[in-house]
Amino acid sequence: MNNHLSDRINNMATSATLAMAAKARELRGQGKDIIGLSLGEPDFNIPDFIKDAAKKAIDENYSSYSPVDGYADLKQAISNKFKRDNGLEYGLNQIVVSTGAKQSLANIAMVMLNDGDEVILPAPYWVSYSDIVKLAGGVPVEVPTSIDTDFKMTPAQLEAAITPKTKMMWFSSPCNPSGSVYSEEELKGLAEVLKKHPNIFVVSDEIYEHINFRGGHVSIAGIEGMYDRTITVNGVSKAFAMTGWRIGYIGGPEWVAKACTKFQGQNTSGANAIAQRATITALEAPVSKIQFMIDEFHKRRDLVLGLLGEIEGFNLNIPEGAFYVFPDISSFFGKTLNGTKINDASDFALYLLEHANVATVTGAAFGNPNCIRISYAASEDELKEAISRIKAVL
Ligand code: PMP
Ligand code: GLU
Repeated sequence: MNNHLSDRINNMATSATLAMAAKARELRGQGKDIIGLSLGEPDFNIPDFIKDAAKKAIDENYSSYSPVDGYADLKQAISNKFKRDNGLEYGLNQIVVSTGAKQSLANIAMVMLNDGDEVILPAPYWVSYSDIVKLAGGVPVEVPTSIDTDFKMTPAQLEAAITPKTKMMWFSSPCNPSGSVYSEEELKGLAEVLKKHPNIFVVSDEIYEHINFRGGHVSIAGIEGMYDRTITVNGVSKAFAMTGWRIGYIGGPEWVAKACTKFQGQNTSGANAIAQRATITALEAPVSKIQFMIDEFHKRRDLVLGLLGEIEGFNLNIPEGAFYVFPDISSFFGKTLNGTKINDASDFALYLLEHANVATVTGAAFGNPNCIRISYAASEDELKEAISRIKAVL
């Protein structure tokens, strides 16, 4: 049947995070007691003040097509947020609202990349970057990092990865999946290298900016020389638990924003009107309103690190943000556990699913085949139970 499909889709990988979540759902449907730690999705409800704004928007009949690039007052709220939280000045003509940060990223790839353009991805990287880049004709160039450098790319590694075909570099900080947070010094180091290569643009995915346990999020666009060549991506899925409401946005050079609007106008039009109205309220609220979620994630991170640290063979960095741990479990490769040979991280994740009823995601999907990703966006009880099951089957 697949021979009627395009090469484009046949060559694309299925999103491993969503696939694992679907598998967990399916097994649950068959009556299995699966604990899902595969999906990066806050387990909190959307705060009431945001829900109230959405209800109000319905009553006020925000039911028509919205402007392709977002309501002007939402873009103003985004502009204010960039200034307040990131010290970045983006005018309304530099901002585009989309159906999730995922769409923002896909827009950028489609408007910036020509066939064969190389995009540097410090690995591990967020699961969809590589296929989004490939879909647009780009060539992902993975720069492997390891637990020894806290999964961060060094300036020397960046320099070595640059070729005459390099068009962009994409990264997230706090990082999904490693939880690593680049310091200002580290970003300055990368910016120094980029200064020598003025044609390289940066996508800075800051969707986890608030879920940062060391404090002091730094945007690379704020570093000298970087503003005109950075597209800052953000959204409300993580900070406000609004995953299903699908709002993301960018701030960047006006010509990029204009191109994204043009592209989006032929694809999806403006993002959901009700969710956009609610996002104004979310972004205008002080960060203190969501501090309870950040504190809770911090507590859970410590819990999970403590419990996983007791399992022999798990090698862990200390994630300083987001809500994932990314243990190196390569010490299990080549071993046979309960009759199952573990050759790689995918086998390991499958083994945990089948024997411990715990869903995680293979690190291979994030460009690091020695690790698995465990999301701790789950209750303390679920986390304790999941890790005790993992321990038991190892
Ligand atoms: N970037 C990163 C690093 C993410 O973890 C996610 C979560 N799915 C996204 C982008 C996309 O977020 P959304 O489309 O829900 O705004
Ligand atoms: N960002 C989340 C994750 O990495 C959500 C799933 C997705 O959009 O891929 O699990």
